[in-house]
Amino acid sequence: MVKEIVRDEFFLQQKSAKATKDDIAVAQDLLDTLAAHREGCVGLAANMIGVAKCVIAVNLGDTDIAMLNPEIVKHSAKRYKTTEGCLSLVGERETERFETIEVKYRDMNFAKQKAKFSGFTAQIIQHEIDHCQGILI
Ligand SMILES: [Zn+2]
Repeated sequence: MVKEIVRDEFFLQQKSAKATKDDIAVAQDLLDTLAAHREGCVGLAANMIGVAKCVIAVNLGDTDIAMLNPEIVKHSAKRYKTTEGCLSLVGERETERFETIEVKYRDMNFAKQKAKFSGFTAQIIQHEIDHCQGILI
């Protein structure tokens, strides 16, 4: 179900709790909401739809992926400076991101997954994982 986007920075700065199997429904809402904001939005975190759980949805170009409890287990030494926007915030802000990351997470069946990402996809995932930590760009 498509949900309303939260813009309350105080709420967004709270750390999200670990997701459980029951939060797969939240992941589906995130995917639906991401699809509804296809133009100008490449990723969402659950607190952006009012649920303080570690769930994110990321656009991979031709498909979207949901991750529950995503965690960066490895990353490149190299970081680069970039600017990012956020559906919950106004304007763009400067930040630093790793070029390559390895992420472990639970998929829509709550099965354990591990995958490597680089470039723009890795950037989106880092932005959304930051949301789970209550970190805004
Ligand atoms: Zn954001």
